[in-house]
Amino acid sequence: MSIRIDPDACTGCGLCASVCPGSLITLEAPGGRACIRRPGDCWGCASCLKECRSGAISYFLGADIGGDGAIMSVRDEGRALEWIFRRRDGTVLRISVRRDESNAY
Ligand code: SF4
Ligand code: SF4
Repeated sequence: MSIRIDPDACTGCGLCASVCPGSLITLEAPGGRACIRRPGDCWGCASCLKECRSGAISYFLGADIGGDGAIMSVRDEGRALEWIFRRRDGTVLRISVRRDESNAY
């Protein structure tokens, strides 16, 4: 499993479910909390992570994708997304990416 959804932080907005290319995320009820179905089918595209405005989704950077067990989350800063990496040794790395500059090649 690549992601985890914190039910206490989830507002039930449904944005994550609307963008998951595998339709793996569902709401428990309209307006209810999001949960991931068939987590083994998640291929870690991070689309849900980028859409969540409440920081309810965490992404596990495991060895299968070359990670070291760090947890990645995203904070919405309006014009930018702040990517937060919490490493296993307790250190935190924050990278802010402007929305209008992301995906610009
Ligand atoms: S990381 Fe991608 S595939 Fe996995 S649950 Fe989120 S949107 Fe779906
Ligand atoms: S985008 Fe975040 S707050 Fe909205 S339903 Fe998904 S996990 Fe919950």
